[in-house]
Amino acid sequence: MQAPAHTSYDVVIVGGAMYGASVAWWLTRNPDFDGRILVLERDPTYEFASTTHTNSCIRQQFTAEINVKISQFGVEFIRNFQDFIGDAEAPEIPLHSYGYMYFAAIPEDAAAMKAAQQVQAANGAGTRHLTRDQIAAEYPFYNLEDITAANHNPLNEGYFDGATIFDWWKRKARAQGAEIIHNEAVSMTLNAAGCRVESVTLATGETIACGQVVNASGPRARLTCAMAGIDIPVEPRKRYTFIFDAENPLGQDLPLTIDPNGVHMRSDGRYYLAGCPPDIDPPVDYTDFTEDHSLWQEKAWPAIAYRVPQFEAIRLINSWVGHYAYNTLDHNAIVGPHSRISNFLFVNGFSGHGLQQSPAIGRGLSEWIAYGEYRSIDLSEFGYGRIERNEPFIEKAVI
Ligand SMILES: Cc1cc2nc3c(=O)[nH]c(=O)nc-3n(C[C@H](O)[C@H](O)[C@H](O)COP(=O)(O)OP(=O)(O)OC[C@H]3O[C@@H](n4cnc5c(N)ncnc54)[C@H](O)[C@@H]3O)c2cc1C
Repeated sequence: MQAPAHTSYDVVIVGGAMYGASVAWWLTRNPDFDGRILVLERDPTYEFASTTHTNSCIRQQFTAEINVKISQFGVEFIRNFQDFIGDAEAPEIPLHSYGYMYFAAIPEDAAAMKAAQQVQAANGAGTRHLTRDQIAAEYPFYNLEDITAANHNPLNEGYFDGATIFDWWKRKARAQGAEIIHNEAVSMTLNAAGCRVESVTLATGETIACGQVVNASGPRARLTCAMAGIDIPVEPRKRYTFIFDAENPLGQDLPLTIDPNGVHMRSDGRYYLAGCPPDIDPPVDYTDFTEDHSLWQEKAWPAIAYRVPQFEAIRLINSWVGHYAYNTLDHNAIVGPHSRISNFLFVNGFSGHGLQQSPAIGRGLSEWIAYGEYRSIDLSEFGYGRIERNEPFIEKAVI
């Protein structure tokens, strides 16, 4: 582990994966902010981070308007990465737009999709509501016998190279003055009134005075909250990813297909990727990444072969388990200050859509830190107040 260079920082960020890097980078590129930033990362190999287990996709198809806007900025950021990073050496970030295909099996689901399509279209997304015949005409490989309709958006939806964004954010944040070190936050002290975090203590023993603390600890967010005596409804949940090869490839892109049977799948270069939760989906230990091999055999493969009969002959070539930082209240992000401990800032609970939200939400939180307000997209709807009031801010389009 590394010792910090100073004993006092304006901003201490606990967690140095996608969100720690995003907030740090946005702060260091803001000419109005000249504070000292420390990013703590307990595991620089990122063995257990959500960021390194992600499927790295972006979509416009959300039911909450703000999530549509956030993804639209995500696309703008991806498409103009070089300009945002401000470095001619920065690469272009691929965005492979095959679209998400949300299937509806029953008329009630089809009606809900129509309503979602209207919200998305009103916000500039290219979502189309398709009948079964329309789906069959464009994608003849699906078995649609139990499907009534679908929503599909071929514009700016699909895979993007999030790992390269992460890498550049870290490198640039460091080059622009942020200190990113291998160390772990283990405790915090509050002031006498209990309304500010005064210091963060590290695994190596140093006690660091702090202006603001950002909880960017992913599935471990609750542990970091506990250091300040607070709680959030975020827990680690296992999510499985499978990469398979098909004996008879489709000859066209497989959209990211969200099947009513609980399995999703998409093209992944010359292979295909599928994913699903376990049938029983409890919170798990922070270090439990054991695989249940029956899930592929008994759930994923039968579901895949049912939906795409051509996938009767497929071969599993890779698989992994990652943890969602699962927000049990409403699946939505928790962003901004705690109500009482005003310098404790959340950027947590992203469930399965945090990677795509990291450009907009990292920018938003950096604005809050620099100005005490959101200046681009107003992120107040994600505030901690709803958690205290137990008032879910529901996002229905969850994977
Ligand atoms: C299987 C899977 C598929 C996904 N697919 C998508 C997708 O297609 N699209 C999408 O948008 N999102 C997706 N996500 C979600 C997305 O990957 C996450 O929301 C995002 O990566 C979260 O980043 P993070 O920085 O908040 O958390 P993490 O990546 O988990 O990082 C948290 C970091 O904090 C560190 N840390 C924790 N506690 C401490 C401490 N006390 N001191 C120091 N460091 C600490 C950890 O070591 C870790 O590196 C997926 C996630 C999974 C698991």
